[in-house]
Amino acid sequence: MTTFFSKWNYPTTVRFGPGRISELPEVLAAAGIRRPLFVTDPGLARLPVVAKTLKLLDAAKVPYGVFSDVKPNPVESNLTAGIAVFKKSRHDGVIAFGGGSALDLGKLIAFQAGQKRPVWDFEDVGDWWTRADTDAIAPIIAVPTTAGTGSEVGRAAVITNEATHTKKVIFHPKMLPVTVIADPELTVGMPPFITAGTGMDALAHCLEAYCAPGYHPMADGVAVEGIRLVLENLPTAYADGKDIAARANMMAAAAMGATAFQKGLGAIHSLSHPIGALYDTHHGMTNAVFMPYVLAFNRDVIEERIARLAAYCGIRGGYDGFFKTILKLRRELKTPHALPGLIKGLDMDRKRKTLIAEMAVVDPTAGGNPVKLTKKAALGLLEAALAGEV
Ligand code: NAD
Repeated sequence: MTTFFSKWNYPTTVRFGPGRISELPEVLAAAGIRRPLFVTDPGLARLPVVAKTLKLLDAAKVPYGVFSDVKPNPVESNLTAGIAVFKKSRHDGVIAFGGGSALDLGKLIAFQAGQKRPVWDFEDVGDWWTRADTDAIAPIIAVPTTAGTGSEVGRAAVITNEATHTKKVIFHPKMLPVTVIADPELTVGMPPFITAGTGMDALAHCLEAYCAPGYHPMADGVAVEGIRLVLENLPTAYADGKDIAARANMMAAAAMGATAFQKGLGAIHSLSHPIGALYDTHHGMTNAVFMPYVLAFNRDVIEERIARLAAYCGIRGGYDGFFKTILKLRRELKTPHALPGLIKGLDMDRKRKTLIAEMAVVDPTAGGNPVKLTKKAALGLLEAALAGEV
């Protein structure tokens, strides 16, 4: 029964539009950041998109430092190294510039640099975030260069614990960037594989949020329009990376996905997280692989909702029509249909499968799945995704 009892959080200021990266110096000044640490990843650091942005800071005579030792699926040693640079050069804020990996690590540096407890004490569990010294959190400006995670509008960051091979979500309301510059021109250099994977991540966020139980009609509305934007724009962004309209709509959908998923996520993410932690796969592409298997698993409970969504998106045939649309989209984006297509030479024994199922059911996203994700169910989903049977 609906309780009509829930908590709604909406994002921060977003300066959205092509060319708006030129406003970075002004945004820093408004946030009171005088010595920013520019956090990005090593791949991006070599690309003109970073050189052009740093030139803007040079022209405005902003004294900045650059930190780019960030792995895809960042780890604690990246955070430790980033904090050392932040403290040594007395930075007073962070420009988190990149995809979800650089955005999350930048947010974590700003958050953790002034804390006394280990980062794992701030995992997104209950009210653990209240353990943090809020005054010690440095301001963050987020500049996404992919259109998928939506980390730019989120209050959490994902980091892998190398000791336990688990992906952990660290949460604090003040990890929400003060301002976001969402400039779709920054995403045109994304290679097709990353465009596809990140775009499917945005779709997975919207879809799982929409299907999650709970009373959050605002998140539902945001999710539904986010899904329409992805279905109508991702194939174009994939086929022609320079199409700014498609890139802009995908950038909006990514922010919408992360706004919507405050309502909850589900089994796509619960399974994708252990796979990402154990095999270092791309997060969004892993979500894309699991998507149809989880849709089919949840069918009985979500059929009516998905039919409403299909109608809004102009898709005929209710749930079945929507399901076929997802399979078609995955084919267009050359998404592997089964896990062995994503992970080369994959050979999972029983012990490994059991471990993944156990990790999935304790993942914080599992509680948002509309059908209870038991260990048996997680194992069944994993077997289906391994065999490609849906
Ligand atoms: P990513 O940040 O790992 O980047 C993937 C690759 O794309 C990198 O090699 C990077 O150099 C490259 N790249 C990025 N922008 C580019 C551009 N404009 N041109 C050319 N190359 C570019 O990928 P992602 O999917 O954006 O982020 C994944 C990470 O985000 C994972 O660690 C995941 O766990 C995390 N995540 C966080 C949240 C959150 O709410 N905080 C949500 C979902 C995922």
